[in-house]
Amino acid sequence: MSNKSKRRSSSIIGRRGFMTAASLAGAAALTQPVAAESGSIAPNPAHKAAEPPKPVAATSSDVELAIRNLVIANRILAHEDVVDAYGHVSLRHPLNPEHYLLARSRSPEQIEIGDIVEYTLDGEPVNDKRAPYLERFIHGGIYAARPDVHAVVHAHSEEVLPFSISTTKLRPVIHDGAFMGAEVPVWDIADKFGHHTNLLVSNMAQGRDLARRLAGNSMVLMRGHGFAAAAPSLYEVVRLAVYAPKNAHVFQAALLLGGKVKPLSKGEIAARVEGPSLKPDTPAALRAWEYWARRAGVADLLPPQPGK
Ligand code: MN
Repeated sequence: MSNKSKRRSSSIIGRRGFMTAASLAGAAALTQPVAAESGSIAPNPAHKAAEPPKPVAATSSDVELAIRNLVIANRILAHEDVVDAYGHVSLRHPLNPEHYLLARSRSPEQIEIGDIVEYTLDGEPVNDKRAPYLERFIHGGIYAARPDVHAVVHAHSEEVLPFSISTTKLRPVIHDGAFMGAEVPVWDIADKFGHHTNLLVSNMAQGRDLARRLAGNSMVLMRGHGFAAAAPSLYEVVRLAVYAPKNAHVFQAALLLGGKVKPLSKGEIAARVEGPSLKPDTPAALRAWEYWARRAGVADLLPPQPGK
């Protein structure tokens, strides 16, 4: 398979985000009829990255599973210290690509199924009057600009912050850092919105500007603030958000040693990112998801395994 066709198949997985969502929690893709049916939908060969995603057949059980997985993702990110009282994770809605799912304003460690709210891409809650996250515009801005993206994380991880204020660029230096990609741009809110903002992404104009800086990359740093990560599935965005701070930590430690630091080569990054062994429904991916979920105390939300 050529690199080009690998990339295309990857974006197809992303386009059917609900399928990815259905397949990532435990062995859902292997065991559940919903996921099996979803997998039989023929990919559209005419699909291009710039096209908006088209609605595909999905069911309310896909939404239930997506919400459950989003709760798991919240708890994982909290338990792995990627987020604290602040930070959030969203998932494009499985039935309506013009909407996304995101918790109400509550810390990720506390999120329960009833906390998940549906939003329009402009950040308007659908049938919910509870307080939303102030920075929800990060999510809608990225979903609007990137049809291939189905899951977004925003966090303030201390390990990546030095790279948001330094001319030293964050780069992947360890194998699991490869998921951030070769280029991690830095978005400076002051460039377009001046020197009197509170640094928060508080409206759609700022969300769209952040998405422009992200461009086709997987991660963008936000100067003096944090990062936004984008991926075709919830599993992939959680993996990226968990490993990017670890990569940044190792990178900083190596820089302190004073010698020359060797980052991953583009070929190594591509082999890691595009290789088939770590796609969302592979045993290696499911292994990580189950491990993280158990550590976070939400194993009860994972779908049942066969024979149990
Ligand atoms: Mn923030």
